[in-house]
Amino acid sequence: MAVSTDRALDPAMLARLAESLSGGIVTPVDDGYEEARRVWNGSIDKRPAAIVRPRGVADVMAAVRFARDHDLLVAVRSGGHSVAGHSTCDGGLVIDLGGMKGIRVDPFARRAHVQPGVVWSELDRETQAFGLATTGGLVGSTGVAGFTLGGGLGWLQRRHGLACDNLISADVVLADGSLVRASPEDDPDLLWALRGGGGNFGIVTSFELELHPVGPTVMAGMLLFPAESASELIAAYRELRDAAPDDLMLGLVLRLAPPTPFLPEEVHGRPIVGIAAIHCGALEDGERAISPIRSVARPIVDLVEPRPYVQMQTMQDASWGPGLRNYWKAEFLKELPDAATGILLEHLDSITSPLSDFKFAYLGGAVGRVPEEATAFGHRDAFTILNVNARWSDPTEDGRHIAWTRSLWRAMQPFSAGGTYTNFASEDDGDRVVGSFGPKKYARLAELKRRYDPANLFRLNQNIVPAGKPGEEGGAA
Ligand SMILES: Cc1cc2nc3c(=O)[nH]c(=O)nc-3n(C[C@H](O)[C@H](O)[C@H](O)COP(=O)(O)OP(=O)(O)OC[C@H]3O[C@@H](n4cnc5c(N)ncnc54)[C@H](O)[C@@H]3O)c2cc1C
Repeated sequence: MAVSTDRALDPAMLARLAESLSGGIVTPVDDGYEEARRVWNGSIDKRPAAIVRPRGVADVMAAVRFARDHDLLVAVRSGGHSVAGHSTCDGGLVIDLGGMKGIRVDPFARRAHVQPGVVWSELDRETQAFGLATTGGLVGSTGVAGFTLGGGLGWLQRRHGLACDNLISADVVLADGSLVRASPEDDPDLLWALRGGGGNFGIVTSFELELHPVGPTVMAGMLLFPAESASELIAAYRELRDAAPDDLMLGLVLRLAPPTPFLPEEVHGRPIVGIAAIHCGALEDGERAISPIRSVARPIVDLVEPRPYVQMQTMQDASWGPGLRNYWKAEFLKELPDAATGILLEHLDSITSPLSDFKFAYLGGAVGRVPEEATAFGHRDAFTILNVNARWSDPTEDGRHIAWTRSLWRAMQPFSAGGTYTNFASEDDGDRVVGSFGPKKYARLAELKRRYDPANLFRLNQNIVPAGKPGEEGGAA
């Protein structure tokens, strides 16, 4: 498909588009364009020709038809957290769904109907009003939409599955501008693809999510240890994974101690190991389940206590705001053996930014019980996932932070389960899409892509190339 990447679109053409919308449109000549073009990752600096802000499904349909009819490059944005920068583009059209904020919680059926502009802090607030929740992002500003479509790893996953496992149905605007419903009854193939296949198949305008009783108070928080205890903690983290109840989720993080008031000053800037823990069952069971970690080493601080689930869900928001430069690399790992410890400690020593970290999250529990072929999401049987998050502010330092990230990621390759997680991918991960799903699943996804989006209109994503179509710019070959 010929794709227009012209900076400016014909004003008469844009005026016709604006007339067909009830929401707004922002172009480079408008006030507010600089703000409107920004995404979470400060390293991404793209200038779309126009940003459409739909108010409802009719606007989304009109924008998709417009883009298709004029062969425009299309970027779809909901929460704007794509680290790879897929929710914006140079030239072309951004369809920014951030204003579609509707949430309807049905506490009786334990379902939430969610529009794509909703972020996790907003949905958690509504569901927790009824003591309900579904697996959501660890930072409140992350969009429900991109997160769920790419899989969705969260604190509740070992008890309640990934976000995509809780996706019951979705309303989807396809590349031809028509609306369909993906559900077990209406279109099970499309639902299968949406459960992990990302934004490849259309624009989701409504998500129906399953809810579960959670909290509202849970046993949760961080334990921070000196790096001297790292080897014992990594070993304990590994040993506990299969022994831990499904209600317990642990994350392991290595970084330099931030200058925060809850840490003694003499620790600031020194390497530390953190264990983030949440137990989503009864508080006394939580206390018991977390106790083995407490006995591994003496923590600098122990912040695990009964606290509101919504507090745990937003605890990291202040330190994970928008605008910093980011480069991430992730890998599903089949094991976390002692042989990995030296690599991790070496990279903790050589970490290039006080804002960077690298972390692990358990898989297992309900994630592993869903059969691999039941959803598009790949690598369910992995032991853990490594996520290397380099963050800094000075653009002249890009090279060294990116080099450190790649060095750690490369050194951990011997333990790889064979792929990355599409939601954590960076701009240069386009060639890793097949590995994210595995070749068999990718072949099925490519067939479905041919059915739903044969011209690859929705290509700014971890792109699944329609079967029979050669790779294209902007997507993976
Ligand atoms: C600070 C931060 C914390 C994070 N924490 C977690 C975490 O705890 N667990 C986890 O699994 N991931 C996490 N992520 C990764 C996150 O899941 C992805 O970045 C995800 O894409 C974010 O969704 P979004 O709607 O905010 O992003 P956007 O940038 O708006 O969208 C990303 C992509 O999703 C697709 N998309 C978005 N909306 C739609 C739609 N309505 N219909 C069809 N396709 C759509 C498009 O392809 C788009 O390019 C985090 C990311 C950040 C930056």
